Amino acid sequence: MSAREHYRPLDAMIYPRFSGIRTFMRLPHVTDLAGVDFAVVGVPFDTGATYRVGARFGPEGIRSASVLLRPYNPELEIAIFDVCSGVDYGDLPVTPGYLPESNEQIEGGAAAVFESGATPVFLGGDHSISWPLLRAAAAAHGPVALVHFDSHSDVHSGYFGGKDTHGTPFRRAVEEGLIEVSRSSQVGLRGPQYRADGLQTSKEMGFQVIRATELHARGVPETLERIRQRVGDGPAYLSFDIDFADPAYAPGTGTPEVGGFTAVECLQLVRGLAGVNFIGYDLVEVMPMYDPAGITALLAANLVFEFISLIALQRQTASGEIQRAAT
Ligand code: MN
Ligand code: MN
Repeated sequence: MSAREHYRPLDAMIYPRFSGIRTFMRLPHVTDLAGVDFAVVGVPFDTGATYRVGARFGPEGIRSASVLLRPYNPELEIAIFDVCSGVDYGDLPVTPGYLPESNEQIEGGAAAVFESGATPVFLGGDHSISWPLLRAAAAAHGPVALVHFDSHSDVHSGYFGGKDTHGTPFRRAVEEGLIEVSRSSQVGLRGPQYRADGLQTSKEMGFQVIRATELHARGVPETLERIRQRVGDGPAYLSFDIDFADPAYAPGTGTPEVGGFTAVECLQLVRGLAGVNFIGYDLVEVMPMYDPAGITALLAANLVFEFISLIALQRQTASGEIQRAAT
């Protein structure tokens, strides 16, 4: 295939959706990203987990559920592959059991995707992967705003004497100056804490914190307004931990917390961020073995569909601006 091939999913009118190799959305598996607008990238690593393990199987679970997706998004009114060439890049190499080594592999693998100019969408993996992913993001774009959906803040100083787990990535990223906290939000935090100040740490670090109880009380539109006001026009990174959703909608995850959000609310929140200057995305903590009906992976696949819809809207706007400038 030439470097300028326009990549799109298999045509479901010719190839039934249960057929073919399990890439995301049945996109071609391509590792030469010349001319590619977005790349879905698996990061099958779960050594950062503090409770259940199994997110190493998240990418394959999300890919399997994603075969049901169709290329047009009627809510955002975008035909994704009319404006985007998208591929499944496959999985980054990792070394199970070895966090520092894997972080280097993940950062290096992600850096190659960022450098190509394609917008990456990473499929975790546990949330520890966001630290090396943010290193690669900041190397390519400078410090980024973080928009973080999660029932947990993931800013613990450490766990079990170690400084690197799925409960610590954003503390490490802030310490390294990878995140512009003044433009960043953490949304959906809830559940029992270890100490009275458990939910204070993020605020002290400078994040806007929108707890689950606030989101439930004030609703999606006001919450979106608060996130958008905060994030501004600069580069931003979206990190979505599937445990933001209520376990009734996403039981297949490592650290479930009740009192969360419906599938509809999750979709509305992502769609409502159209126009934000996202330079990368991750969707983490999906565990197919705790997901007997496959609903967690299905929700995750649909959230990734919304991510790539946002990318398509961005590309459409950018090409419109180029055309306007030329006329
Ligand atoms: Mn998390
Ligand atoms: Mn979480």
